[in-house]
Amino acid sequence: MRVGIGHDTHRLGAGGPLRLGGGDIPHDRHLLGHSDGDVLLHAVIDALLGAAALGDVGQMFPDTDPANRGRDSGEMLQAARDAVAAVGWRIVNIDCIVHAQRPRLLPHRQTMRLRIADLLGVDPERVSLKGKTAEGIGPIGQEQAMAAECAALLAPREEDDSTTPIH
Ligand SMILES: [Zn+2]
Repeated sequence: MRVGIGHDTHRLGAGGPLRLGGGDIPHDRHLLGHSDGDVLLHAVIDALLGAAALGDVGQMFPDTDPANRGRDSGEMLQAARDAVAAVGWRIVNIDCIVHAQRPRLLPHRQTMRLRIADLLGVDPERVSLKGKTAEGIGPIGQEQAMAAECAALLAPREEDDSTTPIH
């Protein structure tokens, strides 16, 4: 088995919606970035690539490449999933934390879990998602930024593993 960790931080700007976990959440701020700024999916990508020792999201999708401007992070996550599968690993589970002062993530948690599970081609019970505020202090508490962390566990892929759809 292989374990990986991912971490990401993005600044927040005025105006919504908030792109997080592969979808849009109604909010009065949005994440800034060269891609769509989806801090949660970027942390998941880095955890998967890290577990397989395949580098990181910046290496796979350089921000110097104009093709990556505004790129859909869901598509980036699928590319990372495929890269990990191509070197013989399958995803056992991921566990994520989103650090955000606002909005409350609990009402959106299940939707995000289902979307991430769908993007990864795994059962939703293999995707855990937790939200934390920063108690109003620091750049996250002051709503200047959001951060996310993810841990991922990989196991060797079996040729006839019917529990893990191969895309
Ligand atoms: Zn990022």
